[in-house]
Amino acid sequence: MIESRSRLIEKIHGLPAEIGKLFVILITILSGFPPHCHGIESPLQGKDSSAKGLQSPSRYPQSSQSSQRVDWNRDSLRGKYLDCHVHTAGIGAGGSGCFLSSTLRRSYKFKIYLRAFGVTEQELKDSGDALVLDRISAGISASKFVGGAVVLAMDGVIDATGALDTNRTQVYIPNEFLAKETRKRPGLFFGASVNPRRADALRVLDSVAAQGAVLVKWIPSIMRFDPADSANIPFYLEMKRLGLPLLSHTGKESSFIDAEDSLCDPARLELPLRLGVTVIMAHCGVPGKNHGEPNVDRAIRLLGRYPNAYADISSLTQINKLGFLGRVLSRPEARGKLIYGSDFPLVNTPLVSPYYHVFRAHLTELRQAARESNPWDQDVRLKQALGASRDIFEATEKLLLKSK
Ligand SMILES: [Zn+2]
Repeated sequence: MIESRSRLIEKIHGLPAEIGKLFVILITILSGFPPHCHGIESPLQGKDSSAKGLQSPSRYPQSSQSSQRVDWNRDSLRGKYLDCHVHTAGIGAGGSGCFLSSTLRRSYKFKIYLRAFGVTEQELKDSGDALVLDRISAGISASKFVGGAVVLAMDGVIDATGALDTNRTQVYIPNEFLAKETRKRPGLFFGASVNPRRADALRVLDSVAAQGAVLVKWIPSIMRFDPADSANIPFYLEMKRLGLPLLSHTGKESSFIDAEDSLCDPARLELPLRLGVTVIMAHCGVPGKNHGEPNVDRAIRLLGRYPNAYADISSLTQINKLGFLGRVLSRPEARGKLIYGSDFPLVNTPLVSPYYHVFRAHLTELRQAARESNPWDQDVRLKQALGASRDIFEATEKLLLKSK
């Protein structure tokens, strides 16, 4: 039953909007969502700090980097975990420069995302897009286990002249906006996004590094470029020189209106890996296939082959990815190569519930996860119930802030 629901929801973005919306409601009911489950309440609810949680991870040695901002924010982790994969959204309110295509803005997905962020469209219009970052910062502050989040900018599609193509861009979150707003809020780190096809890509890369970016995030299937293109070599060499890791979406993408999935084949990341860039494969290739082989196996092969290859475990608890976290954890090539990420706000929607995993973990641990109303606390508990060890949660800070 769960497997067949999983196959069905995987096709959800191919359905007309209203059918897709009804379908999400249906699986929510079928799955017996407990009333306190995330997706029902605001991410800001969950402030029970009295419950006994994990032991705090040991602190990483102090940095020698001069940036005040990064050191201050690392202190703001308060000995808790760092989440490498958190999204924000914006409609351009408050002069943010954010942009959302009219198709995505009309889609049922937009409303689900706003609800998961704990905001309404009217609140964004009244207070500006930075309100979403207030919500994320408050959610992180209230979390027992997670003390910091790398919030991700999102570059768009670049046209033949090297400029942003607003007609083909679905979501745009400018680096300038995010660099400025993350700096003001405790627990938030700046994850930059630069399409390497920009005419001024190298200059932008230097600029985001100077503004304190801890990584560069891509979704090639949405931003419409090939990571394996040799024209990207100067960009990769500059990333390596700056010590900026690349967080690249791998696997089939279903959160947008359409995607060119072959561009997120993990094998396309061999070029930056060979050039020595630290590459984090988001979602470890899950789900989908390329050349008849599951993307997850193509990603794991790279983990075994390149010392600078890593993967995050974000979104691997979603209903369309059941069983994949255990599969990744069981592979020896993945040992020491996985880092913690949530893919918020998707963990705060009906796509995720501890009860989707009843055949894969102890019921008492799943119940404990379901009782957590803070989405990050539920995510950590659920992934622990499914076998993710403490070193995976500690590894994000070590990998992203080690040289800062
Ligand atoms: Zn994501």
